[in-house]
Amino acid sequence: MAVNSKNPETLVLHAGWRADPATGSVAPPIYQTTSYQFRDTEHAANLFALKELGNIYTRLGNPTTDILEQRLAALEGGAAALVVSSGQAASAFSVQNLAKAGDNIVSSTDLYGGTWNLFANTLKDQGIEVRFVDPADPENFKRATDARTRAYYAETLPNPKLAVFPIAEVAAIGREVGIPLIMDNTAAPILCRPFDHGAAIIVYSTTKFIGGHGSAIGGALIDGGNFDWEKFAERQPALNTPDPSYHGAVWTEAVKPIGPVAYIIKARTTLLRDLGSAASPFNSFLTLQGLETLPLRMERHCANAIAVAAWLSKRPEITKVIHPSVQTGEPRARADKYLKGGYGALLGFELSGGAEAGRKFIDALKLFYHVANIGDARSLAIHPASTTHSQLDEAAQLSTGVSPGYVRLSIGLEHIDDILADLDQALNAAG
Ligand code: PLP
Repeated sequence: MAVNSKNPETLVLHAGWRADPATGSVAPPIYQTTSYQFRDTEHAANLFALKELGNIYTRLGNPTTDILEQRLAALEGGAAALVVSSGQAASAFSVQNLAKAGDNIVSSTDLYGGTWNLFANTLKDQGIEVRFVDPADPENFKRATDARTRAYYAETLPNPKLAVFPIAEVAAIGREVGIPLIMDNTAAPILCRPFDHGAAIIVYSTTKFIGGHGSAIGGALIDGGNFDWEKFAERQPALNTPDPSYHGAVWTEAVKPIGPVAYIIKARTTLLRDLGSAASPFNSFLTLQGLETLPLRMERHCANAIAVAAWLSKRPEITKVIHPSVQTGEPRARADKYLKGGYGALLGFELSGGAEAGRKFIDALKLFYHVANIGDARSLAIHPASTTHSQLDEAAQLSTGVSPGYVRLSIGLEHIDDILADLDQALNAAG
């Protein structure tokens, strides 16, 4: 359902759903079904031939998930979305939808570790090369590009460095030669709208801020509908040449009656069909529940994180605080250009006592949860050197921005006094 608003606060509550025509239910129903009765054989044939869009089988689409897809697309100003079972599935699909064996993509080095593994190992095994470049200089993307480069990939606000990615600069380099920029916006929903800066595709782990309650793993791809795939037919063969897996469909042609959605339709009708990373309708419902309060939650996440960063900056045992609100120079300029309404909930700091102090600090926390997650309504903490980054040696850890005494926080929605009190007692215990 189209909503006559551009405001995120309204879109997250109203886009894609009004009331159930059968029952009047205001909350989106959980359509916990695998399959859908066809009206007749002609209807069934039309659905399979994409002459008509509709429900066939929940691996390919589901009405509850469809509401979430419409809502995310509306929120980001995109043309359409595809919700999948995890953020990892969304990242993998975002690349596999354009690149096949022998092709490459260029990616920022500043990535979530799971994405790094996917790119450096699994996609490599599939014959897709990922060329990692330092995002500090956008021109690095151009230098790594060749005739088989199909996409650029980056995160808006990657941890642990929390240096905002130069979206417009890299998107512009790609658009000149037919290369779309895929942005993982997991850490900065509401704060950053990557399509406004020229990105073509957005990836989310909805597990984090979008769901917000730490209750459902999920992922999404959003198609900006803003990329001219046909103009760069040679560069983008996946969308411009007959697809043998769908009776020779040329996706840019096939979607013409529907809209500029070649990318997302191909992802649904081939990758989701074949690889099967479908979202459960119940998880889509939980994610929708979270999404309805996302703008409000981001406000509180950001206000609390700014207060924590300022407070930590005054502590003598802390040698460095990492948060865009305390950055200076180019990183701060990028944060101010791309983030609106706050600097995010993620925050890092370094303890002068090194790894030992880091471990003691984590063990002393009472309110913060010690988990390998971010973006929960509750405050979270982890000591990367002894957990997420423990497989790397110290030099490799340092190159990713993780020093022995580095602690990562995801600041939640609790009262700021209680957050600071817990940090205070844990810092005192760490010595
Ligand atoms: N992208 C980012 C930035 C993440 O932080 C994560 C998970 O931590 C993912 C993608 C993967 O998402 P998921 O855990 O939902 O598969």
